[in-house]
Amino acid sequence: MAEIALSADAFRQRVFDWFDAHGRKTLPWQFDKTAYRVWVSEIMLQQTQVATVIPYYERFMARFPDVGTLAGAPQDDVLHLWTGLGYYARARNLHKAAQVVVDEHEGEFPTHDLDAMTALPGIGRSTAGAIVSISTGRRAAILDGNVKRVLARLHAIDGWPGKTEVLAALWSLAERYTPQTRLPDYTQAMMDLGAMICTRGKPSCLLCPFEDVCLAHSAGEERRYPGSKPRRELPTRRTQMLLLQDDDGRFLLEQRPPSGLWGGLWGFPQFDDENALKAWLAERHHGAHLATAWQTFTHTFTHFRLEITPRPARISDDRATGAVGEPGRIWIDPAEPGDVGLAAPVKSLLAKLAQRATLAD
Ligand code: SF4
Repeated sequence: MAEIALSADAFRQRVFDWFDAHGRKTLPWQFDKTAYRVWVSEIMLQQTQVATVIPYYERFMARFPDVGTLAGAPQDDVLHLWTGLGYYARARNLHKAAQVVVDEHEGEFPTHDLDAMTALPGIGRSTAGAIVSISTGRRAAILDGNVKRVLARLHAIDGWPGKTEVLAALWSLAERYTPQTRLPDYTQAMMDLGAMICTRGKPSCLLCPFEDVCLAHSAGEERRYPGSKPRRELPTRRTQMLLLQDDDGRFLLEQRPPSGLWGGLWGFPQFDDENALKAWLAERHHGAHLATAWQTFTHTFTHFRLEITPRPARISDDRATGAVGEPGRIWIDPAEPGDVGLAAPVKSLLAKLAQRATLAD
């Protein structure tokens, strides 16, 4: 890990100086800092900005002023007060954790024991650290998304923080810098620095207390840290799409089953491989002439890539028209496909077909 030209003591001093001058000190959860109040704020803030959280927090506290009230409330009431905040698993976990605190910890958060804290539903190491440090003033490190960003940039720590070794490096810095005193201020300051100064898209380095020592800033590479999640290699599937043309220049479309890929949409008949395609043609349209395949192209879904090979073919006699009127099959003019739902690649293939007077062999 690259070191910066600043001791841990000097680092902390700058954090405190910055907090004294610019940190947030009047947020609703900064008054009457009980573990319960800090906990609710931390959970609400996990995926949501401070300004959005404040009114939700105030309504929540008015309805559930303490952990016992929350634990005893119906889940519907909790979810109702969460409506609009999103990520409802947070609310369900909050409710469950309140019940565990009441049932197993006599209504008191086990702030003396980080392991017991992290055993509560929805409370990870950083959230536990925030609750302990802010509500009791005892030393506990935090490493939420904001702090990860500040530390990764400051020390130019490469890699995605989801990776064990990157996370371990960041935690070791978080532990190193956490002071022995003024824990609530320090914790709030680090979160504020990340949220207000060292922002994801456009950090305000000129306002940052570490502008002169930050490695990412001195290299002009602030955006490089923290590293993003590696793109997963998507699995590839292959399909052959049969562009079957009749004597009138129309093409056959079939309706896909109601569920699954492109459920209910219309598309060209699809086959896993050439053999399946040929067998189908031989059975349904004996004598059809299969032309040279078009260039394979790729359509990307969230979970896989589909390699599509268009296979033009022409029906050579009238027997094909027997297919007209069969449920789930239509013959359409590619220039006027009409009012049917089409998957994106089918639509673009039809547009190509419309531009061609005839299918080349
Ligand atoms: S100098 Fe810029 S990149 Fe570095 S910690 Fe400060 S705001 Fe973040």
